[in-house]
Amino acid sequence: MVDPRIMCRQHLLGEHAEIHMLIETISRGNSVKGYLDKGLLEVHSLYNRHDELVKEMKRRNYRHYSAISKKWKQTNIMGSVNREKNLEQLINRCSRCREGYERISTKGK
Ligand SMILES: [Zn+2]
Ligand SMILES: [Zn+2]
Repeated sequence: MVDPRIMCRQHLLGEHAEIHMLIETISRGNSVKGYLDKGLLEVHSLYNRHDELVKEMKRRNYRHYSAISKKWKQTNIMGSVNREKNLEQLINRCSRCREGYERISTKGK
């Protein structure tokens, strides 16, 4: 759940696909405990996070056809994601995301 502007194509689309996968999983009543335990999922943020990612995807002219039901806007608070830790891991692992991060942080400040 880092700033979508810094994300490379692969990570942006990857997280987007993951949100749809998680919504699918939860809708079927399957467990997402592993994600919750690892701090990889905030159920109450899925809708807004999807929105953020789609905005960035559209800005880059990627296609998007998969809307999410509005009911996901209001869900119980479940799980928490450490955004700073995720950002750190992402920019350590992916040189493209790191470039994006450096670009944004020197421009934004
Ligand atoms: Zn979508
Ligand atoms: Zn990346």
